[in-house]
Amino acid sequence: MTYAREMKVGQQEMLAVRHRRRYTLCQVLTLLGVIFLTTFGSLSLINGAYFLGSTLIINAILGVVNLYLLKLSGNVERAARVLSGILLVLSMCLLITGGESNTGMLWIYPIVAINLFINRFWPAVCVFGIFSAASMLLLFTPLTSLLMTSYSLTEAIRFMLTMLALNAICLAALRSEEQAYQTIMQLHADDIRQMAYYDMLTGLPNRWSFKFNLERMLTRAKKDKQRLGLLYIDLDNFKQVNDQYGHEAGDRLLLKFSEQLRETIRPSDELLKPQAEILARLAGDEFVVLLPNIKDPLDASTVATRILNIFEGGFKVDDFDHMVYASIGIAVYPDITTEPFDLLHHADAAMYDAKNNGRNCFRFFTQEIADKLQQRQLIEKGLRLALNEKHLSLVYMPIFDCKDNSIVAVEVLLRCQSPELKGVGPDQFIPVAEATGLIKDIDLWVIDNALQAQGILQNQHNFKGKICINISGVELHNEAFPLQVKNLLDYHKIKPESVELEVTETAFVAGDITCLRILKALDKLGVSIALDDFGTGYTAFNQLIHYPADCLKIDRSFVNDLFSEREARNKMVMIIQSLAKLYDLRVIAEGVETEAQLTYLREHGCDWAQGYYLSRPLKWDELLNVLKT
Ligand code: C2E
Ligand code: CA
Ligand code: CA
Repeated sequence: MTYAREMKVGQQEMLAVRHRRRYTLCQVLTLLGVIFLTTFGSLSLINGAYFLGSTLIINAILGVVNLYLLKLSGNVERAARVLSGILLVLSMCLLITGGESNTGMLWIYPIVAINLFINRFWPAVCVFGIFSAASMLLLFTPLTSLLMTSYSLTEAIRFMLTMLALNAICLAALRSEEQAYQTIMQLHADDIRQMAYYDMLTGLPNRWSFKFNLERMLTRAKKDKQRLGLLYIDLDNFKQVNDQYGHEAGDRLLLKFSEQLRETIRPSDELLKPQAEILARLAGDEFVVLLPNIKDPLDASTVATRILNIFEGGFKVDDFDHMVYASIGIAVYPDITTEPFDLLHHADAAMYDAKNNGRNCFRFFTQEIADKLQQRQLIEKGLRLALNEKHLSLVYMPIFDCKDNSIVAVEVLLRCQSPELKGVGPDQFIPVAEATGLIKDIDLWVIDNALQAQGILQNQHNFKGKICINISGVELHNEAFPLQVKNLLDYHKIKPESVELEVTETAFVAGDITCLRILKALDKLGVSIALDDFGTGYTAFNQLIHYPADCLKIDRSFVNDLFSEREARNKMVMIIQSLAKLYDLRVIAEGVETEAQLTYLREHGCDWAQGYYLSRPLKWDELLNVLKT
């Protein structure tokens, strides 16, 4: 919700309360007035004071009509105006006739006071002004001849002075009530502004107000031809703190970091004039710092270094050192950016670059990153098009039993033919799909088509092996995924035992409950699960027992390094092999490119193998031919 809308909602609530109060006030006063007017009007008529009597009765009738209209329309403002008019006429009438036994003046005081209170301050001043002016004319000028009674000069002066004093007090009270009301409205608006503009946890400006500040500062930088630096900070390993120590510990860490960040870039800094709002928390563990009017882009790196120093030797919260660091991306206007509003995206991209380059460091937005960013945007566009225009297809890579070289499984691999993605393989477009959320649709498309293919292979080509489908690590956090898989299995009438889902080992996070729950749900469906690219992740080997995995796929880099000089790497295949034996898991070796590799793997008890030496990924017809032979 935007700030303006939030404020409106809050103020509308206040207005509604005030409206209800005025509504009740108008109703009660009109009702009292009607009773008063009818009683005194009737008495006056009985006593022969026809003018006074009929005026009072007419006013009473007007009061009843007003009450009725108020009930009908709920229009308090109009009702108050009409009531105000009735009271004005009544007061004038009492002044002119002198009222019953010349007591009219005494009745005028409370009536005028009530008349003021049903109005807001300025309308009340008007009413009072009109009444005072009319009274003065009637009491002190030749218009006195209009009066139906006579007042001595002393009476007239006393009346005017008492009126003035009494009503000045009423107006003052009204004024202070109005001011109190305004203050409450303002405080209310401030509260809402705080909520809409600032982050609740750290009190820093939030994403919304940051964008507003950025726009303002960029406009100024553009006008004054100044440089503006933007630091995009993302904490490394923050998720682990949340997972291991709970969200409250995570919150305390963020709060402490925000305080230290404030300290670090305090405007005592030569670089920064005391400017408000140069800091913001954009989301979770993402913060930004704006550096207006810097002389040199290097000034931004000075600030970045100081921020990184906060994390030197770990980050202490509650007497505990957390292994949390920061990655910082820096973009400077107008160095590379021509389009000022890209600055945030650029700093963000530079931050990702910092993260990919070993973390706890900063990176400037460079031409290289700009190119990568553009490439990513192109890929994203191509992928969206591919999904809509059916430019996706599958190729099939046979997997062989090491013992007898028979085909025991087929891995489906995704290809994309959209013109924008010429020469771009899944290694490049899958990460983009994951970052943009397109992956969920893509994974479902692949599973759907792979199961359809498996149906044809089983029913028409007597294929007995498994179909192996790659799924993204993103699915391990997608609660809907297991059911989607089940529905597709049912739809294509495929036995789950003939399906293997491959998920890359790096997607596994130790202790991640959601991930484990989803894996278990998939396992329950009856499909088998393979840990892909095994050896590249950080799975503590003793964790393997907790995962419902059936198979380890040795990453092809290790197969490639089988005969390399580097002992640590060439031993890896052996290590994975013995590990699999220990946990009773099947082993598939990927990326077998030579006879020697295959022989070695076979001799060391590897179950299955795939790779260019055995077969390249095949088109559908090619696969059918290979299966025939
Ligand atoms: P992956 O699951 O490890 O797939 C194996 C990749 O290694 C394939 O590349 C395959 O063509 C390649 N490969 C197999 N044998 C050899 C070999 O002997 N030598 C060499 N140099 N390469 C070999 P591809 O098709 O480019 O796929 C790359 C990655 O993209 C896959 O790695 C997988 O992580 C991902 N991917 C592919 N298809 C899908 C899919 O349908 N869905 C999802 N979510 N990811 C996919
Ligand atoms: Ca795979
Ligand atoms: Ca792999």
